[in-house]
Amino acid sequence: MQLSDRYNSISNVLREKYGTKVYKLALESGTTCPNRDGTLSSLGCSFCSAGGSGDFASKGADFSAEGINKAITDAIGKVSAKLKNTEKPLFIPYFQSYSATYAPAVLLRERYFAAINHPLAAELALATRPDTVSEDVLELLKELAEIKPVTVEMGLQTADDTVAEFHNRKCLTEKYKETIEILKDAGIGTVLHMIVGLPCPPEYGRDRDGHELMLESRENILKTAEFISSARPDGIKIHMLHVMEGTRLAGSYKKGLFREQALEEYADTVCDIIEHLPKDMAVHRITGDAPKKILLSPMWSGDKKRVLNTIARRMAERDTYQGKYYC
Ligand code: SF4
Repeated sequence: MQLSDRYNSISNVLREKYGTKVYKLALESGTTCPNRDGTLSSLGCSFCSAGGSGDFASKGADFSAEGINKAITDAIGKVSAKLKNTEKPLFIPYFQSYSATYAPAVLLRERYFAAINHPLAAELALATRPDTVSEDVLELLKELAEIKPVTVEMGLQTADDTVAEFHNRKCLTEKYKETIEILKDAGIGTVLHMIVGLPCPPEYGRDRDGHELMLESRENILKTAEFISSARPDGIKIHMLHVMEGTRLAGSYKKGLFREQALEEYADTVCDIIEHLPKDMAVHRITGDAPKKILLSPMWSGDKKRVLNTIARRMAERDTYQGKYYC
């Protein structure tokens, strides 16, 4: 059995839906984040890079309809250059950096209408925080969803509010659940992101090697998986903690306050999470990318093929699959 047969991968879901390969195009949002602009905090989440979690987003759009069309066309050109001429893919413009709903709807309107109306756009996706989905923005999302499917992705990272506060997430876990319900009622798709390998606050105790901060335990991580299963977003993204230069977490890592997560350990945890998800939840990611020039740890995450092969091997050895322990 192949790895992709063991879980409900989004690439299979989209291929089945559209009859062709569908690529996501990471774009700059042109917004900021209330956790960085001083509204909630000016520090940001401890792991957030200067690029606002959108380090691979295409840059330089001016956010007018023409600017967005050009950014999408350029991004499609880059993807298409690597494809065979016979392939006719579709694309999902994905506004990834910072909080893509954190602006008055009147400002966001032009860019998102331009994106969703691009002839090769199958859908539209926005990455954001639940506390920035205002009533005006919700109305805008509903209008957009009448044209093509719209998905809102939110970075939960952990369902443990104490760990989340330690990383300065500045939003309670319950708010994610509430926002999923509001978005669902509005006909908008939802995805939650979770991070594997977050350090815990000092009161959780030292780890076995004596580091001041232990990493989240398997039990804690499974609680996040169970929370996501109960909140019932349409999809989940799982990725490892990236410690990146310039983040607040980088300082603690350099001081040796927490250890690096091992690849085998990560692969096993991904298996644990997948086993606890409902079978029909789309899995958008089981690994992640960080720009190599600012990545401090874990360096193995830069070798995506090795990460996926390790997860595939562990899933086969455990003879496991999505939903095995979901009830
Ligand atoms: S909410 Fe997102 S963009 Fe804002 S600080 Fe946290 S990770 Fe960065």
